[in-house]
Formats: sequence, structure tokens, C-alpha cells
Amino acid sequence: MDCLFCRIALKQTPAKLIYEDDECVAFEDIAPQAPVHFLVIPRKHIPTTLDLKDGDEALIGHLYRVAGRIAEDKKIAGRGFRLVMNTNPEAGQSVYHMHLHVLGGRRMHWPPG
Ligand code: 5GP
Ligand code: ZN
Repeated sequence: MDCLFCRIALKQTPAKLIYEDDECVAFEDIAPQAPVHFLVIPRKHIPTTLDLKDGDEALIGHLYRVAGRIAEDKKIAGRGFRLVMNTNPEAGQSVYHMHLHVLGGRRMHWPPG
């Protein structure tokens, strides 16, 4: 299996890493859609939200906590930021290794496009 985000987590493909621990890695999105746009991914290869298994709950909660802590570090938390996890083609998922988008630093639109 060849997965871009697994390779980034293993540091076999370069990325601007922001944070890493035993469970997850955070890095800057290569094509930012907001002044702040980074991704938080599990080290474990889980293609989509539909592939979550019993026991993955804490991991997903951890991704959200890491996202929030980095948003605070980047001084966008109080203003507001958006967490997005696209699932499957109509939602715009292009990389099939689950990732939490964190977008901020500008006003977000609703409903999203
Ligand atoms: P998706 O479209 O699957 O929700 O999000 C995939 C995201 O990964 C996109 O925002 C895209 O810009 C980002 N991305 C794709 N390839 C790379 C890469 O090689 N490096 C980094 N840092 N981000 C990437
Ligand atoms: Zn992967």
C-alpha cells in the first residue's frame, strides 16, 4: 500500500511538521485555503471516517484536542476556526488517509461550498 499521508507520518515524504506524538502528526496543508490551514492525521492508516473501528474513539478525540491546542498556539482559537473531515468523493476527499483540516485566520462562510 502506498499512502501519501503514511509517508509524511514516517518522514519519508517532506512536509512542514507542526506537531507529532505517538498517535498523530500535524503539518501545514500544501495548498492552504485560509491564512492558517493545517492537517491533523492519525499515524494509523484509516482511509475514511467509515473505516473507524471499535477502539478508535479515543484516537479521534485526541485529533480534536491536538487541533485545538495548535489553534491556540497559532492564536486563532479565540477568533474561531473550522474543523473539517471530508469523507468520500462528493465531500471532496482526495487523500484516503483520514485527516482533520483546521482552517482559521479569516471569517469562514456558511453553508460551506
Ligand atoms: P481532502 O481533499 O482529502 O479533504 O484533503 C487533502 C488535503 O491534503 C488537501 O487540502 C491538500 O492540499 C493536502 N495535500 C495533498 N497533498 C499534500 C502533500 O503532499 N503535502 C501536504 N502538506 N498537503 C497535501
Ligand atoms: Zn495512510
